[in-house]
Amino acid sequence: LNPVELVASDTAHHLHPFTDHKSLHAEGGTRIITHARGAWLWDASGRKILDGMAGLWCVNIGYGRSELAEAAYRQMLDLPYYNTFFKTATVPSIALADKVASLMPDHINRVFFVNDGSEANDTIVRLVRHYFQLKGQPEKSVFISRRNAYHGSTMASASLGGMAAMHGQGGLPLPGFVHVDQPYWFGEGGDLDPEAFGLKAARAVEDEILRLGPENVAAFIGEPVQGAGGVIIPPDSYWPEINRICRKYGVLLIADEVICGFGRTGKWFGFETYGIEPDIVPMAKGLSSGYLPIGAVAISDEICDFVIENGGEFFHGYTYSGHPAACAVALENIRILEDEKLVEHVADIAPYFHEKLMTLADHPLVGEVRSVGLLGACELVRDKATRARFDPVGRVGLACRDHCFENGLIMRSCGDTMVLSPPFPITRDEVDEMVDLARAAFDSTLEDVKAELA
Ligand code: PLP
Repeated sequence: LNPVELVASDTAHHLHPFTDHKSLHAEGGTRIITHARGAWLWDASGRKILDGMAGLWCVNIGYGRSELAEAAYRQMLDLPYYNTFFKTATVPSIALADKVASLMPDHINRVFFVNDGSEANDTIVRLVRHYFQLKGQPEKSVFISRRNAYHGSTMASASLGGMAAMHGQGGLPLPGFVHVDQPYWFGEGGDLDPEAFGLKAARAVEDEILRLGPENVAAFIGEPVQGAGGVIIPPDSYWPEINRICRKYGVLLIADEVICGFGRTGKWFGFETYGIEPDIVPMAKGLSSGYLPIGAVAISDEICDFVIENGGEFFHGYTYSGHPAACAVALENIRILEDEKLVEHVADIAPYFHEKLMTLADHPLVGEVRSVGLLGACELVRDKATRARFDPVGRVGLACRDHCFENGLIMRSCGDTMVLSPPFPITRDEVDEMVDLARAAFDSTLEDVKAELA
């Protein structure tokens, strides 16, 4: 491997997602990751890096699990591909649908397969609108979601998302998607205590339903903990109130489990951690720990039975819906999570992760530390007392992300919130190391911005 040649080739031919190519070029090009084991990555220059993000919040069982490679290999030899259209199925697609349904609440028994989280959410938009059309309520079509949410990059999933930067490109959101405030106490709670603020944020959904008319609102979608928005952990009062509001107005409740699902919050699903009562559950990432692309939408019997009885065929699907090798890998991933009790491990190590992360709260740049399960966040601020941010928001986060990388740690910046989502098998020693590396990066960031501090 010649890192210089690799970077030159990449720069010439690859348009990367979510990457500012102009500054990338000026800063020497991409960082090329070559291999990984456990919670550790190596780059093309041989540098060892602790992956505090499990890739993109997905490699939950950690890197290098040969069982998943073997499951894919065996399946590819037996049957590398067959589809699930037109009355056909494969053994792995049957087994995985059954397994996922068994992990869902009792009223959710059917699964639609997709390739990723974006397609899962696109599928939901079509399915829900189709359902209400069949019920003779075609006007019940609006989706409510939260500002600063991320639900994917396709036209409909990015419309569900509430990120201003994404809406600024490509004419989004599409009609029929509206956004309300997120339950982000540190950033938007003002003088309210967290529980009062949680209720206020939930009631923003009720206000929006009443403004639009419940007869026009199809569904509300939210992540149990908003991940890419900056690990927004809701106050305890938030989700019970959302349950109540959705039931009261006949609005479907969608818990986006693409990040939280399969153990990230210390239970199998975020809806268990927060007592959410979903009708529909999109999932992806943790379903296969990212070893192969696969996603799924789990759907309540009420919706699915009605669509099957009254709609016949749902004209929707992907060539790779229920891809046999991806299903085999997902099944093996779930087996490992179960047999090695990795979700229990997340719950066990979560208090230690929290305690260690909290040691960063005394840092001059850190305004708040929060975590649940193995999801953590540190807010970088200019003034700890007033929570004032640096201007423009995001600049200091990006600088900190680079310092992390230089120190051998992957930590992501969401605006100026530095977030962590490490692989589940992480040890206490690795947690210590992660927090030490983060502190060193915060110190380097502090040096950059000292002159601006209040
Ligand atoms: N939903 C949530 C909550 C996500 O975090 C993401 C991706 O990060 C998506 C949906 C989209 O998933 P994908 O990138 O697999 O399309």
